[in-house]
Amino acid sequence: MTRRQERRARVGRWALCVATGGAAAVMLGGWIGVLPVLLGLAIGHRAMIAPPGVAVLTYHSVSPDARWLPWSREITVHPDTLATHLAVLARIGATVIGTRDWVRRRAAGEAMPPRATILHFDDGYRDNHVHAAPLLRARGMIATVFASLDFVDPAGGVRRDGVDHGYMTWDELADLEAQGVEVEPHGVAHARVPVSDAVEGVLTADNWRRHAWLQWDATPGPKHDWYVRDRPGAVPLGTAIPRSGLALAACAWREGVRETPDVLSRRIEEDLAACQAAFAARLGRVPQLFCWPENVVGAEGRAIAARLGYRATTAGRGRNTADEPAEVISRIHVGDRAIGVRWQPAEALALWAQVRLMQGNHYWYLVLAPMNVARRIVFALRKDAFA
Ligand SMILES: [Zn+2]
Repeated sequence: MTRRQERRARVGRWALCVATGGAAAVMLGGWIGVLPVLLGLAIGHRAMIAPPGVAVLTYHSVSPDARWLPWSREITVHPDTLATHLAVLARIGATVIGTRDWVRRRAAGEAMPPRATILHFDDGYRDNHVHAAPLLRARGMIATVFASLDFVDPAGGVRRDGVDHGYMTWDELADLEAQGVEVEPHGVAHARVPVSDAVEGVLTADNWRRHAWLQWDATPGPKHDWYVRDRPGAVPLGTAIPRSGLALAACAWREGVRETPDVLSRRIEEDLAACQAAFAARLGRVPQLFCWPENVVGAEGRAIAARLGYRATTAGRGRNTADEPAEVISRIHVGDRAIGVRWQPAEALALWAQVRLMQGNHYWYLVLAPMNVARRIVFALRKDAFA
């Protein structure tokens, strides 16, 4: 059962108990009506408390202004918000542990530290080095960064010029490792592929950045600076945008032919092996974890990762409870503007609720749900707002 299914079932059962108690109270009337309400709450309580899970919080860009990223509103968190989140974790007594340590303990069936919590940062954004690392260091907290090979900036060196757009260099990734941050792979090219001849639109000056996967797909090799140009460099404006899927999970459709599952398997294997080779060459060690781009994987992908020696991979849909497979990491996306606008008390409450919900307390969904609705409404009303 996915955590969403579990949540629906548990909160649904709770709501039924409370509603039944409330209806009985109305029928009985008077003081005696309090009894069925209390009974409904007591029975419903059993549904709301689930076996404990582990919160794996997933961040991406951490920046005061990441408008260079077309999906900044969805994935960028302001450094102030990250600081708030880390303070919340300290406040609730969370023990922030490394993913490798957690995966090892999980596989061995060892006990976890109290309220074990894990921090992930995807994509290897340079702002992680500039803004997130100092905040983690100040709190003595460890995290795992997942970087895609083609996006690592080949410039080299550890840059101290304050620029925070773009991607980290291998030296900056190594510098993070020296600070205790784990660095693990996120695939070669973070790629999507066309999956059918269906067309979803046309590339325009306004949307080509948001559909950057088309440029990446047509540009083998480094693509760390794809966003710098004013116009698309590889696939011109006016080109049809095909329906797409994740390159490590979907059979590609090229020139009217769908590739076979065998070819897909070979592509996945080459991608994961390339990550192992690059990490061995650049960081002097073999990676242990793998983060599937856009959190999507098929059964074959997991099997290939295991065969190549990866200890665990992401894209689970559960809560990391003791009865879930130790090689599957289920993560939750952490964003900014929990209620549609950035307001630190709301950011703190939302993170608290997300962590406690993953840990099994479903009452926190009653807090999160209205916040999610508010965010969706505000985002829909302010479609172009970023800052
Ligand atoms: Zn990613």
